[in-house]
Amino acid sequence: MKNGLVNLIPPISVAAVLCFWAFAPAAILANPWTIVITSAAITLFVQGLEFLFERHPGWRMNWREFWTDLFYVVLGATAISWASQALAEAPLLALKQALGIRTPWAMQMPFLLQVALVVFLIEFGQYWMHRLMHNVTPFWLTHAPHHHITQLNAAKGYVGNPVELFLISLSVVALFDLPLTAVFCALNVLGVVSTFAHANVRANPPIWYSFVFTTIRHHSLHHSVPYEDTRCNYGNALILLDRIFGTYKEGEASVVGQDDRRRLSIREQWLFPFQPIFARLKRSPAISTDVVAG
Ligand SMILES: [Zn+2]
Ligand SMILES: [Zn+2]
Repeated sequence: MKNGLVNLIPPISVAAVLCFWAFAPAAILANPWTIVITSAAITLFVQGLEFLFERHPGWRMNWREFWTDLFYVVLGATAISWASQALAEAPLLALKQALGIRTPWAMQMPFLLQVALVVFLIEFGQYWMHRLMHNVTPFWLTHAPHHHITQLNAAKGYVGNPVELFLISLSVVALFDLPLTAVFCALNVLGVVSTFAHANVRANPPIWYSFVFTTIRHHSLHHSVPYEDTRCNYGNALILLDRIFGTYKEGEASVVGQDDRRRLSIREQWLFPFQPIFARLKRSPAISTDVVAG
């Protein structure tokens, strides 16, 4: 396939997702499994493209990466999704009802605007949460495992410390009255964009797409090895927010990772935020011995 056509795959995929949620039969859209299937299909589709249109041989999928990625995709769809629902969405919905917050105007908007509103609400929150994670130590410790990944692939957006995955899932969408199909459509649009932004696919979408949506060029730069170079392009799917808030940086990276590109195991990813505590506990007996010896 010509490069020009490959470059159009991300925008065509976004359009396909919009068409599906706008025009599919009502019975399919009402089925609770539809969002699970479409989300999985997006990841599988982009993963398939990695084999057809590879970007960097150094990011080629292998079994160790595959099983780690699969573990996090399942974790995201089960435990993280449940925690987000029970600890954030449900209390927010209760608050909405208690305060009598109503947004009938959101129900009246055209479908595309509803989707755009949800995309904006989620991305605005994620942008600031992500920026906070890169600027405040305790938050960085939860996000650093995501930056320790040493190659980019379709499902790498799911890989990270569970605390980070929970924090990044928070949004205020529950405060708005919106049809579920618009919310699910927005989640799939975000899924398509952020999956391509992490994928080893040779697609460089045209400027009318990459001005608004995050691409692999933007996000690979965000995964650069020097920590200072990672402090840009925070938008998970809306790079437009970086352009607005002054954190946009042009460029691309093919070598990604942190701390001499040390790949963390799942166990290390989970324990990473507690490292300073472990280090302090280890140091304490040594200090008291010194005192005694002194
Ligand atoms: Zn980051
Ligand atoms: Zn990333």
